[in-house]
Amino acid sequence: MTTTIDSPEQAILIRQEELVKALKPLLPAHALLWEPEDTIPYECDGLAAYRQMPLAVALPETEAQAIAVIKVCQRLEIPIVPRGAGTGLSGGATPIAQGLVLSLAKFKKIVKVDPIARIAVVQPGVRNLAISEAVAQHGLYYAPDPSSQIACSIGGNVSENSGGVHCLKYGLTLHNILKVRAILMNGEVVEFGSLAPDAPGLDLLPIVVGSEGMLAVITEVTVKLVPKPQLAQVIMASFNDVSKGGNAVAAIIAAGIIPAGLEMMDKAAIRAVEEFVHAGYDTDAESILLCESDGTPEEVAEEIERMTQVLNQCGAIRIQVSQSESERLKFWSGRKNAFPAAGRISPDYYCMDGTIPRQHIATLLKRIQEMEAKYQLRCMNVFHAGDGNMHPLILFNGSDEDEWHRAEEFGSDILETCVELGGTITGEHGVGIEKINSMCVQFGDLERELFWGIKAAFDPKKLLNPDKAIPTLNRCAEYGRMKIKGGVLPHPELERF
Ligand SMILES: Cc1cc2nc3c(=O)[nH]c(=O)nc-3n(C[C@H](O)[C@H](O)[C@H](O)COP(=O)(O)OP(=O)(O)OC[C@H]3O[C@@H](n4cnc5c(N)ncnc54)[C@H](O)[C@@H]3O)c2cc1C
Repeated sequence: MTTTIDSPEQAILIRQEELVKALKPLLPAHALLWEPEDTIPYECDGLAAYRQMPLAVALPETEAQAIAVIKVCQRLEIPIVPRGAGTGLSGGATPIAQGLVLSLAKFKKIVKVDPIARIAVVQPGVRNLAISEAVAQHGLYYAPDPSSQIACSIGGNVSENSGGVHCLKYGLTLHNILKVRAILMNGEVVEFGSLAPDAPGLDLLPIVVGSEGMLAVITEVTVKLVPKPQLAQVIMASFNDVSKGGNAVAAIIAAGIIPAGLEMMDKAAIRAVEEFVHAGYDTDAESILLCESDGTPEEVAEEIERMTQVLNQCGAIRIQVSQSESERLKFWSGRKNAFPAAGRISPDYYCMDGTIPRQHIATLLKRIQEMEAKYQLRCMNVFHAGDGNMHPLILFNGSDEDEWHRAEEFGSDILETCVELGGTITGEHGVGIEKINSMCVQFGDLERELFWGIKAAFDPKKLLNPDKAIPTLNRCAEYGRMKIKGGVLPHPELERF
């Protein structure tokens, strides 16, 4: 008997039935979800403006189960969206309507800690902070520290090449991992990287790091551990002009200092976080810098003195140095809570993530001020200033469709200004669905064709997290036409809340 398919909804139900039937024998009953009330928590990641219900969610507990699930999807040609903790801000883990969400949340074993080799082997679902907590007894920690570190998973960190406050000195995720084990879309297991430096052949580790779940499903990560510094102190410096703060960042690096953290906030951000966490910030300042030094007490004393000199030369109006560990954490609490602070003062906020060469921070801030007037929306700015990674938070009301469109255009305008100033459209949050159109501005057709070539080598049927991170040549052509007409090119398949 043949079934007549009358509507797209019916087609989805038939596909769902086929998938669930094939997966049921492979997974424990609690590890396969398909009823809407069970799958709804997976309908979005941290980019909650976009939501999509998947066909089903699989939560395998072993690599063998994950392989079996992937093989079924390859055979049935069902796209897979890998998912860690779902804190991503660019929609990398947003489901696909005709696809499966493959959650690695149950892969949360710390397989091995070797304090002599200063490494840990961990499963992808282990939380970033849990690694440091597990190795603290050895006086070690895992350096990359996204502000979401209490929740985000190492698998997500590797897939996004995540950064954090301390990445200026210690490097991004890429610089802090040695090896990755992963499953390809055909079910084969591969390993990239090595425990010793300079492995022969093409180095595929950096290609997988930051690949946003498009190349392989990560099942194990070997991370580097570093010794905890004896002391850390932070300087909080206030400026009566954002440009002076921006210029001070460039001046510190130009003086040959690599602080353990170098962060900046503008007035709107300072006021929002001060009302929220009372971190002791100077609410009259136009901008503040947090400059951290770590090392031995002698190293810290010398670096704090040198940074203080530079900050004074750059016109700081107030300088405070933390005098205790609790004061240091208090100063940082404001910066670390900047995103939730934005959530308190606005119904919604859109967190941008671009990079620019440090010397252009002041220029970009001025341009953002002009955009606030153009799009009639407020923006608060927090920066990983030391490495030129900025996070403007555009405040808007998502229930107002017009405001949302203005927020999206404001965001694209910021990212394209970053490219114009010699920077990039993402510093650490990835492209996902959010910045897919801006990829058309960052790269030309030839570069995008190379990306597609790499994707095809790993996943010829384009089933692993498709429609994310790399725009098709057609999409870019359409984006070009829309820009001339003035409008927003919607993301494929997705619903707005
Ligand atoms: C409040 C807040 C603050 C944040 N601060 C920072 C910050 O300071 N720095 C920063 O870099 N980011 C930050 N982020 C963004 C986010 O936390 C990071 O991108 C993080 O690495 C995502 O990890 P996750 O486990 O939540 O991944 P998810 O959101 O689940 O997934 C992210 C991407 O990785 C892929 N993926 C996940 N696991 C795997 C796997 N095992 N194999 C293959 N692909 C996989 C997914 O398909 C998706 O493309 C912040 C987010 C929030 C909400």
